[in-house]
Amino acid sequence: MPKPWIGITSHRTDKGYYVPRAAVGQAYVDSILRAGGIPLLIPVGIPEAQLPQLCVGLDGLLLTGGGDIDPARFGELMHPQVGHIDTARDEIEIALAKLVVQEKKPFLAICRGIQVLNVALGGTLYTHISDQLPDALFHPCYPDLPRDLAVHEVNLEGESQLAGIFGGPKVQVNSLHHQGIRDVAAGLRPTGFAPDGLVEAVEVLDHSFGIGVQWHPEAMPESMQMGALFRAFVDAAKKR
Ligand code: MN
Repeated sequence: MPKPWIGITSHRTDKGYYVPRAAVGQAYVDSILRAGGIPLLIPVGIPEAQLPQLCVGLDGLLLTGGGDIDPARFGELMHPQVGHIDTARDEIEIALAKLVVQEKKPFLAICRGIQVLNVALGGTLYTHISDQLPDALFHPCYPDLPRDLAVHEVNLEGESQLAGIFGGPKVQVNSLHHQGIRDVAAGLRPTGFAPDGLVEAVEVLDHSFGIGVQWHPEAMPESMQMGALFRAFVDAAKKR
């Protein structure tokens, strides 16, 4: 059976080299390769009118981590800790998230990705968790701690796809985010929660594989469970 094409959203950067360029963390690429997919980078700047055609050519979509979404997108005020906004990236990723939900195309949304998914469908975010969620755990374990360090558990809802993939009701995860889901969008089922109550996983209702996670599974390459998550995603894409 041919391997599925997995689109991977990217960011723009002008750091560390001479000219602006499209970039994606290598760990995302490696995770898709290990799981048996063919990764394809999707650059920021593709006109929105071309995205439906692009989407037809993909078997699955990976919405990657990155900087913060412009708070105006979900009716929030700017916060001093909000950073790395790229409104062109917001635009393409929000449009792609809507498309893969509509088309029931398998997708995995990681960190910024789960936030993009939630905002695309009408939900809102905490713009800085520690200021807005009383008694929150410490979620932004960067840049000083190892990215693969599991720092809190996520409690998974029974009957969720994720509980099936992980083989039980709990999973230990890393935590590399200062924002999180506040109001869950209609059409999404929250299926994983940190011990402080923060939503850390969502699944699209009535969809074969539409999953968002707030942690970074690609940064935990030694974890059998995170390997199983990427395999389940790529296998769902293969079935199309
Ligand atoms: Mn967390």
